[in-house]
Amino acid sequence: MREYKIAAIPADGIGPEVIAAGLQALVALARRDGGFGFDVTSFDWGSDRYKKTGTLMPEDGVEQLKTFDAIFFGAVGAPDVPDHITLWGLRLPICQGFDQYANVRPTRILPGIHSPLEGVGPGDLDWVIVRENSEGEYAGSGGRAHKGLPEEVGTEVAIFTRVGVTRIMRYAFRLAQSRPRKFLTVVTKSNAQRHGMVMWDEIAAEVSEEFPDVSWDKMLVDAMTVRMVKQPQSLDTIVATNLHADILSDLAGALAGSLGVAPTANIDPERRYPSMFEPIHGSAFDITGKGIANPVATFWTAAQMLDHLGEADAAKRLMIAVEQVCADGVMTPDVGGTATTRQVTDAVCEAIRGANL
Ligand code: NAD
Ligand code: MN
Repeated sequence: MREYKIAAIPADGIGPEVIAAGLQALVALARRDGGFGFDVTSFDWGSDRYKKTGTLMPEDGVEQLKTFDAIFFGAVGAPDVPDHITLWGLRLPICQGFDQYANVRPTRILPGIHSPLEGVGPGDLDWVIVRENSEGEYAGSGGRAHKGLPEEVGTEVAIFTRVGVTRIMRYAFRLAQSRPRKFLTVVTKSNAQRHGMVMWDEIAAEVSEEFPDVSWDKMLVDAMTVRMVKQPQSLDTIVATNLHADILSDLAGALAGSLGVAPTANIDPERRYPSMFEPIHGSAFDITGKGIANPVATFWTAAQMLDHLGEADAAKRLMIAVEQVCADGVMTPDVGGTATTRQVTDAVCEAIRGANL
């Protein structure tokens, strides 16, 4: 039997609620399949640990994760801990430590879920956003001089390297090539930002020559938000910087019905290290503990994890089950339903048992 070592880091807010749901679905899939199983280790890292010990994870935390096949992550962030501390204390060190440079965010409208865009239904919006996940605006470079004084200056330096941009561009072209439409949109802000962003445009043109069967176009990020809303059918695969794709993918999640259905995978395409799978959403303090967190984003990212592990059939089966449950109207309130996290999860597990490929 194939056994996968999974590191679960549920962390904060609704993180533990959705990760529990995700693990339940993974167990149901393993039972249904019979050919693989999971050895799950849970880590109690997050804001509670920070409040007790001063760090979100142990000093050798990233090292501890190295031997796992994949990381299954909830969300990090607490109302009484500054967000830059939680983000830089847990999620970013893992992404950067394992050079998970491709952040992959599929978005489509699932059956039964309504987009806020009028007349846009399943089939009209089917995108994958590829986010550069190792440098750019989140390289962590910058500083504050004359702190607290009237002349204080703060800088955020975006860093783009030829190696970093070329590898994400190749990843995006390859992904576009694997999809039926073979179409990529490269997003920048190269009119106002004339250094790293112009380099993006140049590298896109260079890499495109390696993929003659992929057609592509360019968009400025501000105009891109309009195109996503007005012509969702005109887009397929999208590549953008760390910051731009962060913003565009929240918009994409909302256009597909809710942040609660939007998944993400932080991938090391070279497979030197474990990749990390998580819902896009945060810890959602407003609904924590109410039992109504939408687990669909976590199911979807579990499907991404299965695909990455080589269990494509199980990934497919999970998404068939999720779509069936959504189509049946068993949904949480964020997408207009009345079901609880547990009811959706039980329904998905039931559908997994019945789902034929
Ligand atoms: P959020 O994603 O937590 O919540 C935004 C809104 O979407 C809220 O109204 C919330 O109830 C709703 N929502 C999110 N996920 C949902 C789900 N699964 N089901 C139903 N509704 C859902 O974003 P926020 O409020 O800006 O941030 C809260 C905290 O999470 C902050 O501390 C922030 O830094 C952190 N955060 C963490 C991550 C991460 O861990 N990757 C990502 C984003 C935000
Ligand atoms: Mn984000």
